[in-house]
Amino acid sequence: MTDTLPFQAEVQQLLELVVHSLYSDREIFLRELVSNASDALDRARFAALQRNDLRAADGEPAITLKVDKEKGTITVSDNGIGLTREQAIEHLGTIARSGTKAFAKALKERGTSAEGLIGQFGVGFYASFMVAHRVEVQTLSAEPDAEPVYWASEGTGTFSVDAGTRTTRGTDVVLHLKSEAVEYLDEDRLREVVARHSDFVQYGVFLNDERINKSTALWARNPQEVSKEDYQEFYKHIAGDYQDPLAWTHFRSEAPLEFSAVLFFPPKRPFDLDQPDVKRGLRLYQQRVMVLEHAEAFLPRYLRFARGVVDAPEVSLNMSREILQNTPVINAIRKQIVKRLLRRLKEIGREDPATYRTFWENFGATLKEGIAEDSDNKDVLTPLLRFRTTETTDEEPWRDLATIKANLKEGQDAIWYITGQDLERMRTSPQLERFRKKGWEVILLSDPVDEWVVMNLTEFDGTPLKSVARGDLEDENDPIAEEARKQAEPFTTWLGGLLTGSVSSVRPSKRLTDSPAVLVDSDWGVSANLERILRAARQEGPKAQRILEVNPEHPLVKKLVALHHDGKTEAAEPLARLLLDYAKIAEGQVDDAAGFSKRLSALMEQAGQGL
Ligand code: ADP
Repeated sequence: MTDTLPFQAEVQQLLELVVHSLYSDREIFLRELVSNASDALDRARFAALQRNDLRAADGEPAITLKVDKEKGTITVSDNGIGLTREQAIEHLGTIARSGTKAFAKALKERGTSAEGLIGQFGVGFYASFMVAHRVEVQTLSAEPDAEPVYWASEGTGTFSVDAGTRTTRGTDVVLHLKSEAVEYLDEDRLREVVARHSDFVQYGVFLNDERINKSTALWARNPQEVSKEDYQEFYKHIAGDYQDPLAWTHFRSEAPLEFSAVLFFPPKRPFDLDQPDVKRGLRLYQQRVMVLEHAEAFLPRYLRFARGVVDAPEVSLNMSREILQNTPVINAIRKQIVKRLLRRLKEIGREDPATYRTFWENFGATLKEGIAEDSDNKDVLTPLLRFRTTETTDEEPWRDLATIKANLKEGQDAIWYITGQDLERMRTSPQLERFRKKGWEVILLSDPVDEWVVMNLTEFDGTPLKSVARGDLEDENDPIAEEARKQAEPFTTWLGGLLTGSVSSVRPSKRLTDSPAVLVDSDWGVSANLERILRAARQEGPKAQRILEVNPEHPLVKKLVALHHDGKTEAAEPLARLLLDYAKIAEGQVDDAAGFSKRLSALMEQAGQGL
């Protein structure tokens, strides 16, 4: 029974682009098909470990390429898990894989210029239509009661499904090549493409009964003998990425524990890196056979962006092929992996700042979690951190703590930082007035994770790290300023009484030079920024206790101090309350807009009368 079915809308859109694509790397269609075949063989092997009623394969697991020059077709076959009718409709008619989903999303955002996008994301099975005007699939599922299925499409809006002819389990994908793609009928060309993109596939890829991939386990080779291109291709193969990795590290360990690993830093932050339900982790092999695709136990959360392979024969798996967490073996391997990854980052930071910058801009916020999470490695992680500061520029966008420490000024006994949401607002914050005047560098922290970083990183190389928004500043040894502050005290005590409930106290400021008032955090307890972050994450947290500081040298404050001194508190009150409004607005928040407008309009009326 022939069914003609429409492709899912996203697939149609994608095919439209793929079919008309002039993408120069069209040859990657073969990598996609070989990779799907290899997955199908993996899945058959996994399934056979769990149940014994599956249809058996007709021989050793293998991937076979066939060329028919007369018909102008090439066929990619495997004797893997196969597809049922429902699966064929589902998997070859909709977008299944996350990479392709991301492609569709990027496509929506970018309109119709797909050229770069195909290269960035890859389109899996649908890449066939870059070279074929018609694709046919003959498949028989390993499910004992499945019937053979025939699937065909010309890559336009629909595909058809019918009864198929395969008699053994597995899948044939037949490509009827477009006239401009007949180069792939040439066997040498196919050999070359397989050698370039699929050499690492662990099953044999055969052409005319000859094996054309080497399938040497790259991690088992001597790192000295592996070329840069080999690593790049291997990364693309295991990560399903289309771009070269940023960097990698490859090592073997013999005693006390035997294992080897090849680990990569990807070139880009995946859009779903922070989604908790997405599977991550390294590929686990044992004696060169893949046993787990996402072994999460080998990476701490803060290194979840790393990709790669571990071959560890001594790791034990339980019945449901889950890795046994936190055994001494796993812990020992994870420790080594962390050490190697961090060591590699240190090297890149030293030898190749441009690459390190790309790394940091993609994964810095994630790596920073390690400061709070992995206290054992805090000393190794700290020099890897990079910061924006009041001194960094477009040319020099990031600094490490050693550079910041080297830039401490005479009399500056702490490395200062400010946390907030927005870099520009932080740069211009009244909290920095005194620092700006003295030429002291201040670190600007805008990632939510930074609040946890500074809780765990209280000093660097003997110099304390301090928040500009917290606590009182050191005394200035300036007798005139000291006197002004003293005179302002009765006023600030009175204002503290007026503002009970809004702030925890009011005091004369040592940090302001221009603004009349500023809000700061108290010495203890959560900061206002952390309170905001917790609120945004809908988490109950303690409320920040804020202190209002007023600038005793500001003309307005001087006037208010004098009014208060003369007992004219009624006249002083509206203006005094405006100091808090001012400080809030400087932070970008007005939570009592109605009260504020009333006070402002009263003030404007007054000012108007004096004109
Ligand atoms: P991906 O392989 O990344 O999931 P594809 O678009 O390449 O995305 O393939 C979609 C799905 O079609 C696969 O996930 C798999 O379920 C199925 N499929 C493709 N090729 C084969 C094959 N040779 N054997 C069995 N299933 C296959």
